[in-house]
Amino acid sequence: MALEREFLFDAAQQTHVGQVRKVNQDASLIDMGVFAVADGMGGHAAGDIAAALAVEELGKVIRMAGVEDLVSAVKDANKAITRRAASDIELQGMGTTVVALASYIEGDAQYLALVNVGDSRGYRFRDGVLEQLTEDHSLVADLVRDGMLRPDQAEQHPQRNVITRALGIDDNVQVDSWVHTPVVGDRFLLCSDGLFNEVPVPEIAQVLAEEPWPEDAVDKLVDMANEGGGRDNITVLIVDVVDPDNDNRADAAPAAAESGVASVDGSTEAAGESGAAPASNAEPVVADAGDKSRGLLGRVFGRKKGNSSDGTT
Ligand code: MN
Repeated sequence: MALEREFLFDAAQQTHVGQVRKVNQDASLIDMGVFAVADGMGGHAAGDIAAALAVEELGKVIRMAGVEDLVSAVKDANKAITRRAASDIELQGMGTTVVALASYIEGDAQYLALVNVGDSRGYRFRDGVLEQLTEDHSLVADLVRDGMLRPDQAEQHPQRNVITRALGIDDNVQVDSWVHTPVVGDRFLLCSDGLFNEVPVPEIAQVLAEEPWPEDAVDKLVDMANEGGGRDNITVLIVDVVDPDNDNRADAAPAAAESGVASVDGSTEAAGESGAAPASNAEPVVADAGDKSRGLLGRVFGRKKGNSSDGTT
């Protein structure tokens, strides 16, 4: 049962310190089918170290057999951070969020495992609709779930930065996980709160719809977060699911102007469910041919993207 055609992941990342903070305590990773964003916290340089340790640990994931391997890597990262914090009084209290996506093959299908701790987010842009796949572990998210706060109030809440789960706090950490079946044309977005606290989600969706190349999209989103105030570090990572034999992104502007936003957890599969239908859809999801960016074909595969790793910046 060999996989008929393995998807290619074309990814790009961008990070910026923002307009207010002195240091960037976000970190991100693009490494052989493993993608992650971590948002560190703690005084002095501690937050940088926590976030860097998280992505370093995730970078050790070589061959994924299933979502549990990614969960284990997050738990290993948690241990590495708590150990390091215990060894140095300057680092006590450091912690980090992490959101990570990793590809694996089971039987004749290819899957994407997604994990989350804290308030960094994973989204999927499919058929012009942006859907938040992760749940925030934050005070305001709890209040929204309990009906104490409306989502629009949460966006402006003075305590919206308070998170309820992080790596580095305790020897045990609860990791949320999901399994997704990727489809050609899917565009996954991992980001720290420095993006979505500054840029309204419909505007994020618009950029994902209009910028066919992930490098351009991450740059534009970071610019918009800075223009929105840049009150926090900003990290944006985009992963496009591409059919290596049939990449039409140069011909079609994905779902331009048709973008929308879906609510949390619309069609997310439960973690551990690997019996989902194989991703056999070799047809481009986006058929809306436009005239943008013609002539760029070949650019994607002419570069060794998806192999470069990058720690804290
Ligand atoms: Mn942040």
